[in-house]
Amino acid sequence: MAIIPINLKDGSLENEQEIIIGIDLGTTNSLVAHMVDGKAVCVKGSDGKSTLVPSVVHFTQKEEVLVGEEAKEKLITDPAHTIYSVKRLMGKSYKDVQNLEKHFGYQILDDDTESLVKIRVFDRFYTPVELSAHILRTLRQRIEAELGARVTKAVITVPAYFNDNQRQATRDAGKLAGLDVLRIVNEPTAAALAYGLDQEETESIAVYDLGGGTFDISILHLQDGIFEVQSTNGDTFLGGDDFDRILVEHFCKLLNIDAETLSEEKELGQEVRLTAEKAKKALSFADTWSGNLRGQELTLSRPDFEAMIAPLVQRTLDCCKQALQDAGLQTSQIDKVVMVGGSTRVPLVKQQVAAFFGKPVYDKLDPDEVVALGAAIQADVLAGNQKDVLLLDITPLSLGIETVGGLMDVIIPRNSKVPGKAGRQYTTSVDGQKNLKIAVFQGERDLVEHNRKLGEFILRDIPPMPAGLPKIDIQFILNADGILTVKASELRSGTAQSIEIKPTYGISEEDMARMLLDSIVHAKDDMQARGLLEARNEANNLLLAGDKFLIQNDAILDAEEKENTKALLTALREATQKDDKDVILAAIETLNTYTMPLAHRAMDSTIRAAMAGKEVNQTDF
Ligand code: ADP
Ligand code: MG
Repeated sequence: MAIIPINLKDGSLENEQEIIIGIDLGTTNSLVAHMVDGKAVCVKGSDGKSTLVPSVVHFTQKEEVLVGEEAKEKLITDPAHTIYSVKRLMGKSYKDVQNLEKHFGYQILDDDTESLVKIRVFDRFYTPVELSAHILRTLRQRIEAELGARVTKAVITVPAYFNDNQRQATRDAGKLAGLDVLRIVNEPTAAALAYGLDQEETESIAVYDLGGGTFDISILHLQDGIFEVQSTNGDTFLGGDDFDRILVEHFCKLLNIDAETLSEEKELGQEVRLTAEKAKKALSFADTWSGNLRGQELTLSRPDFEAMIAPLVQRTLDCCKQALQDAGLQTSQIDKVVMVGGSTRVPLVKQQVAAFFGKPVYDKLDPDEVVALGAAIQADVLAGNQKDVLLLDITPLSLGIETVGGLMDVIIPRNSKVPGKAGRQYTTSVDGQKNLKIAVFQGERDLVEHNRKLGEFILRDIPPMPAGLPKIDIQFILNADGILTVKASELRSGTAQSIEIKPTYGISEEDMARMLLDSIVHAKDDMQARGLLEARNEANNLLLAGDKFLIQNDAILDAEEKENTKALLTALREATQKDDKDVILAAIETLNTYTMPLAHRAMDSTIRAAMAGKEVNQTDF
């Protein structure tokens, strides 16, 4: 039993359409973005003020949960029950973060060093996944209020250096917040996407991300619209908060406040910190800042501020140097430099980075928003709205099924976009066939025996029909995670069956490269093999039909015609045993030429019989 194609036209790839949002789940701030009239936009809160949701979660005595700006206000007054920087704990064990504990104002559970970190608030323990889910839920509510519709699908960004555990933890947080996380995207890749850099030719791109508490530099390589991370470097405790700290010390000196007073008087501490951040931000746009703190006039010039933070900026450049070295590149080989993170608004940072790389930096987009905007663009691609614009993910090898004679019938060709779907119709090659085996293969060779088998299943309970009559529809659906669903259904009876496979599971890059190379090396042999098999298939169909013809038209054929037809059928049968396509095709031709007038006569007599109102047998010719 075997399956044969009905419609040899190539199945066309379609993409599904749906709302998918983009989320930047940051250490300091998080944002949600979506597409409005083909443009990525970050969504503001109900107060219409800011697109940023501080990544802070506060638990009240009554175990109410506050997230964002409201929670941030509790950082100073109630630090034990206010969780910030939870991103630093994602996917980590207590052992991993032991040395970080001094940085947190809250309690990390310490009974089992090997297990995943938990955070104690009152008498309850929370995982970083649960806490992140609170932030994600807030972002989800924000966009649902904006759209007036339910949202269940998202793309979430993570740092390029996040390992599998950290990525999985981020996915889990999404799930807990009621979001199906279709894709985890690297933050630098999202930033490059936001600037439309995927449209460029082959390029090397540096993404410089200076946030609140962390600094990341990533070197990306772009080819054929796909970004690859070449190297990453950075400092997990270097960011805008350190600029604030330097200013706090500076102001305290001016006001004669000692460190002890500062930590004891919480309100004073908060006031100084807020003033410091205000001064820092103002100096990004003005040459001097002046303000008032506890009745005393304060002024600060940009050059003075720059002198204070210069060593910190230099540290980021040292990381850049290391990242370039790891990528095996010189600064001159970097084509584009993208600025990300709120702290890149500081003019000194921009100048120093531009000078280091020797070229102007990309800084037109809001550095707070750029990652979320890129996530929304990636989401739009997954939703299938940017079909021909971006090529972010492609199938490395063709996917198809085995058809009669062991031939590979490709349904999704290699280099097709993911997600995508394609289908084709098939029929049976044997009368009364009830079960049909669908074997799924991956590879470029014409014979399935040379390709990689991904799986198989049996479509059962096809009602008995003559060969060629059942209509079997096979659909290949490849989702954003690279999971392939193969669905087979017999359209006349409605019987259906499907399987799910992960085509990239258990195959290395080298294996894929080898399979591609083999297909090129064997292209000529493969073409001959396919030609022979196709000729044989055609011959077999004709032999089947020929035998039927002789039986059905016994009355209208004379003895000699029957003998000759039988002889030609036998000759064809013998030809199919030989490994020569041309011999088979010649035998087919001879048989067809001889039987053509006989078939016409048979048809005429059928029509005459029908006109005479007699019952007739259906003929197959
Ligand atoms: P993260 O990626 O860690 O979540 P962000 O990219 O949101 O962080 O950056 C937050 C940091 O950016 C804070 O330290 C904030 O003070 C700083 N920042 C925001 N605006 C400015 C500005 N105008 N000038 C200087 N620093 C700024
Ligand atoms: Mg960030």
